[in-house]
Amino acid sequence: MADDQFDYDLFVIGGGSGGVRAARVAAGEYGARVGLAEEDRYGGTCVIRGCVPKKLMVFASTYRDMFQDARDYGWSVSDGPFDWHVFAAKMRAELDRLEGVYRKLLDGTGVDKFDARATLKDAHTVTLSTGEEKTAKHILIATGGRPVRPDMKNADLGLISDDIFDLEKLPRSMLIIGGGYIACEFACILHGLGVDVSMYYRGGQILNGFDDETRALIAGQMAARGIDMQPGSSVLEMEEREGGIWTKSTQGVEKIYDHLFFATGRAPNSNDMGLEELGIKLGRNGAIEVDEYSQTAVPSVYAIGDVTDRVNLTPVAIREGMAFVQTVFGAEPTPVDHELIPSAVFTQPEMGTVGLSEEDAREQEPIEVYATSFKPMQTSFAGREDRVMMKLIVSQKTRVVLGCHIVAPQAGEMIQLAGIAVKMGATKEQFDQTCAVHPTMSEELVTMRTPTRT
Ligand code: NDP
Repeated sequence: MADDQFDYDLFVIGGGSGGVRAARVAAGEYGARVGLAEEDRYGGTCVIRGCVPKKLMVFASTYRDMFQDARDYGWSVSDGPFDWHVFAAKMRAELDRLEGVYRKLLDGTGVDKFDARATLKDAHTVTLSTGEEKTAKHILIATGGRPVRPDMKNADLGLISDDIFDLEKLPRSMLIIGGGYIACEFACILHGLGVDVSMYYRGGQILNGFDDETRALIAGQMAARGIDMQPGSSVLEMEEREGGIWTKSTQGVEKIYDHLFFATGRAPNSNDMGLEELGIKLGRNGAIEVDEYSQTAVPSVYAIGDVTDRVNLTPVAIREGMAFVQTVFGAEPTPVDHELIPSAVFTQPEMGTVGLSEEDAREQEPIEVYATSFKPMQTSFAGREDRVMMKLIVSQKTRVVLGCHIVAPQAGEMIQLAGIAVKMGATKEQFDQTCAVHPTMSEELVTMRTPTRT
């Protein structure tokens, strides 16, 4: 078919961060005729039920410590209880505003929006839940992922992360199952807001896959703050009883919580879309298999973001979307670079990380480890026991910094900047040539002279 025989040059399925970026750049910068279908709210997981409301909740939850610190610095401050209704109403209004921004961005670049679910009929045709069919030269699937509950009796009594933002009231107690990003972040948030939080995680330590020393420091601080951390535990049975959700753990502990929250991972949204029937390959967990250009086994169909289960982070989905547009509409084949992606876990204390953990680096080659942990000036003055950590993993052979791990307030902000140096392949000596900014916590990254261990 000639291009003008298609309704669109590009049809995007999914109006989250990746899909919206690809749609508006294809339309706005390359003049492509673009249609986009979204079955739920524009903005996707990040804006509507992930990063953005989560970060607002992180901010809300840190004020409790700040009130205490302010008193320790000489201020007269009285803290009252946290009012979830006041906060939640503002948060929801902010999400409405952001969704409006996403819609406007699409309108502004002339993208046709369809508030409908889309499935694939053939390699160039989508069927909308409204009954319409649209043809396109290229189809981009950017449908994201969803939280999953474990396969167990009464699992639907447990909340998932989507539900947290819609709570009518804050519970008094919450049992969180899982030890990953979402479990740890929400354990800290809810604890900070005054909820009595317990965490069951099946492994020996939280935050699997991250640097062991940073995991241990964060787990220790979470426990010190009063979160009931239960490694090697999972929920065996659960049922609704008077007073909440009764649970029995794999360790035999029976307890009733107001709510139970499954933070046990996410799955790609690839089901019931007609993908396998078309010859698109699905991998583990239903992830769409793509090549380095995000192209599926059906050449006209591409997929980006969490539905491909590569690196499930918003900025990565956006980059995949940009690379797709450059490849297909810019005639410049652009593979997606998934190496050395900095990221943050918004626990309290926060973690910022880029590159290899000490354990992974050690398997790869001989290394030097530079690490320091200390009480930062601001909270130490206020009498808090909080510790921060700055850590560099250095190749003995090339002197390149292979990994940088930070546990500290604002570690996410710090790692964004340290990530530039690590991505550029900076050596330990180049870190050291950089003058310290004093007095800061992150100055330790350029002042550690002697390896802690090799
Ligand atoms: P994760 O994969 O990070 O963690 C899932 C946790 O649940 C793990 O501790 C896992 O244990 C445990 N688990 C899995 N299945 C079961 C089960 N059947 N019973 C008990 N425990 C179970 O997933 P999340 O949902 O926390 O996060 C999903 C993704 O979202 C992340 O990988 C990340 O890419 C993204 N994200 C990023 C954030 C950020 O950048 N700050 C914030 C939030 C999410 P085990 O480790 O033993 O497998």
